[in-house]
Amino acid sequence: MKIYNTLTKKVEEFIPYEEGKVKLYTCGPTVYHYAHIGNIRNYIGHDILDKTLRYLGYDVTRAMNITDVGHLTSDSDSGEDKMEVAKKREHKSAMEIAKFYTDAFFVDFKKVNCKVPEIVSPATENIPEYIKIITKLLEDDYAYISGGNIYFDISKLDNYYCLTNQDSNLVVGARESVDEDSNKRNQADFALWFTTSKFENHELLWDSPWGKGYPGWHIECSGISMKYLGEHLDIHGGGVDNIFPHHTNEIAQSEAYLGHKWCNYWFHNEHLLDETGKMSKSKGQILTVSVLEEEGYDPIAFRFMCLGSHYRKQLLFTYDNLKQAQNTLNKLKKKINSLSTDGEVDSKVFDEYKAKFVEALENDLNTSNALAVLYELLKDDSVNDATKRSLVSSFDEVLSLDLFMEKDEVDSDLDKEVMALIEERKEAKKNKDFGKADQIRDDLLKRGIRLIDTREGTTYEIIKD
Ligand code: AMP
Ligand code: ZN
Repeated sequence: MKIYNTLTKKVEEFIPYEEGKVKLYTCGPTVYHYAHIGNIRNYIGHDILDKTLRYLGYDVTRAMNITDVGHLTSDSDSGEDKMEVAKKREHKSAMEIAKFYTDAFFVDFKKVNCKVPEIVSPATENIPEYIKIITKLLEDDYAYISGGNIYFDISKLDNYYCLTNQDSNLVVGARESVDEDSNKRNQADFALWFTTSKFENHELLWDSPWGKGYPGWHIECSGISMKYLGEHLDIHGGGVDNIFPHHTNEIAQSEAYLGHKWCNYWFHNEHLLDETGKMSKSKGQILTVSVLEEEGYDPIAFRFMCLGSHYRKQLLFTYDNLKQAQNTLNKLKKKINSLSTDGEVDSKVFDEYKAKFVEALENDLNTSNALAVLYELLKDDSVNDATKRSLVSSFDEVLSLDLFMEKDEVDSDLDKEVMALIEERKEAKKNKDFGKADQIRDDLLKRGIRLIDTREGTTYEIIKD
């Protein structure tokens, strides 16, 4: 398989450290708020990577952290712990906040058919691991204590900027707007451990050889990864915004600690955008999977929309794009569910089509080409239905689009969508927005759905299939 490696800036042949086995680590959510659909796009990208590796026969072990302490409002050690911000907002304890948003995260994660990694570990559950690493970094002079906190000294490394190829002046310059931390020898150094000297009112504190304190953000991923996956990691995933400083710092501290190369392939997903730019949690209303559902959309249609574009390309989210994805997916499922169960699977044809599907995925996870293979298969009159069914079911191990959902379930999805639009039209009429109400009626008519207004309310009929 070929994947793009941020470390080398090339699409490369993937060769695991140990033959046939893959140790995969992906950064998890910061549980101070709901995950928005941009975050979810990132996890869908990781899910496709994870499932493709398994589909190709690798024995994959995957770990993911849950950030429930230490991630400050600025990625470069300034501001407040995000959990503290949430506590003030919601008047709850840090652990109550973490539990609530971790549960909410996994509800949405599963709704888009993401597979839960073998290991999911909250940052707060691995403190001894961080203390072990930091102790050694201090002993070996890679870290220093200043103002009660512990910082990693980036001047001790020749190749600190290996992931970004940035020269240090450029990066420090880019951070000029960030509050300076006078405890740091160099503003580009990063925190490994905070003590109360930095944040007096921090709720979560642990004893350490350096006094009561709590971990910096980056150390959790190195600690959790090494604890569960060992000293050699094959692939580390995240979003492009994690490249610097988060992953840069993970590499620095892990390799200084281990004394050898830590992770061979760095995998990064591009962002989901809305009309104003990168979708983010700090932008007011958070667009979640549950909101999409409330608007009448199937979360799997969002997954389908994501698979239609490459993970290394930015993707613009609009409801129109989602609507289109929902319609295409419904049609696709309808077609698949109309396949008969007659005949026998032709293994030669099966292998040929599977090879094409694999080829698309092996080419840096080209999911839109993989979907094109599915369309080609469904159109191919020379292939019998049994073979088609068998291939679709095989492809869906990776795509996870519930392609075999029963026809009436597909119909019920359509029903939900139309009923939601009827409700929206009713609301528009109530607000005297007749333009919008007519638009909804006309749009549905173009799709072959005629609305019928009666005294009891509005129903609909399907006039073309
Ligand atoms: P957070 O919960 O804020 O730590 O973010 C979780 C993950 O979502 C990180 O790995 C980010 O890189 C990723 N992410 C954040 N915003 C977006 C976005 N708009 N599109 C795609 N991924 C994102
Ligand atoms: Zn991480």
